[in-house]
Amino acid sequence: MSLETKFELSIDKIEKSRVDSIDFENVKFGSIFTDHMLVCHYKDGKWGKVEIKPYGPMSFAPSINVFHYGQAIFEGMKAYKDNNDDVWLFRPRENWARFNKSAERMAMPHIDEERFIDGLKALLDLDREWVRKGEGNSLYLRPFMVGTHEGVVAGPSSEFMFCVICSPARTYYSGKVKVQVAEHYSRAANGGVGYTKCSGNYGGQFYPTQLAQQEGYQQIIWTDDATHTKLEEAGTMNVFFRIGDTLITAPTSERILDGVTRKSLIDIAKSKGINVEVRAIVVQELLDAHAKGELLEIFGAGTAVTIGQIEGFAYQQKYYELPNVKDEDSYAIMLKTNLQGIQQKAIEDTFNWTEKI
Ligand SMILES: *Cc1c(COP(=O)(O)O)cnc(C)c1O
Repeated sequence: MSLETKFELSIDKIEKSRVDSIDFENVKFGSIFTDHMLVCHYKDGKWGKVEIKPYGPMSFAPSINVFHYGQAIFEGMKAYKDNNDDVWLFRPRENWARFNKSAERMAMPHIDEERFIDGLKALLDLDREWVRKGEGNSLYLRPFMVGTHEGVVAGPSSEFMFCVICSPARTYYSGKVKVQVAEHYSRAANGGVGYTKCSGNYGGQFYPTQLAQQEGYQQIIWTDDATHTKLEEAGTMNVFFRIGDTLITAPTSERILDGVTRKSLIDIAKSKGINVEVRAIVVQELLDAHAKGELLEIFGAGTAVTIGQIEGFAYQQKYYELPNVKDEDSYAIMLKTNLQGIQQKAIEDTFNWTEKI
């Protein structure tokens, strides 16, 4: 590919690709990485050269900002290969825009669209072989930025590193999960950083999730921090509820991440004639709907698994099992099939969401 870039780009190509040694059928999510990575440094108020080089360890001073004050943000997106061997990105500019929203909240610099998108395309072009075609196959892309200024002075870093690494992924059916509705711990608060993909959001979530796991639940449905009644996210995913034939999901806010999967599913559901309500939904409504037999489905939505179905939830020590909706009647399955179909170019992309590299 001869990519005309508006920034300086250097490419240091690996001598021999590792791609032939990879068992793509059995890769564990996020565990192996492609031949190359993208690295770009911010210094003296500007982003420098975009370097694409062999994936490998990096070395930093122990005093850099990210180790102490945690200026760190990331994105998660995927590339897909169609049956003509063309590689596609799904709504990548949404991720770029969100990356900058996260950056702003964390007092980190914006990155320009060219470095983010065209840099990513140059990287993907080099690691094309790592994007496998066929249902469920994709390449997970992880752009991230960290503060790299040396010194333990508590303040925002003046130097940053932007980096992109890529990892082959397979979406497999991992089964439904049991969740626990949060009654004490919070993932996010008003005025906080819940709407950003800052690393600390994840770090803070591990402990309460471990506690839930010890009680037999794989994930937590996070509630609002003030009242613990509004249902907001499921683990690290947005969450949808189906009551009767209506699909309900909370509006995005300072506490809720504006997921690309979430908004794509809303549009697909509407295009299929499903009644979608974007509004606050409280635990009591769930309990009432469950008592009447109208609570049919709950599922999480996010790039990594697309849709994660939930089989039941616990609230105040009581477990509520959802009915076993048949696959052909499931909104979760229908939406997942359509979204993945668009992403894999097996279903026509009437929304114009896919972008060829
Ligand atoms: C990344 C993320 C999501 C999902 O966003 P997508 O753009 O759909 O991948 C949802 N909630 C949280 C907290 C997240 O970090």
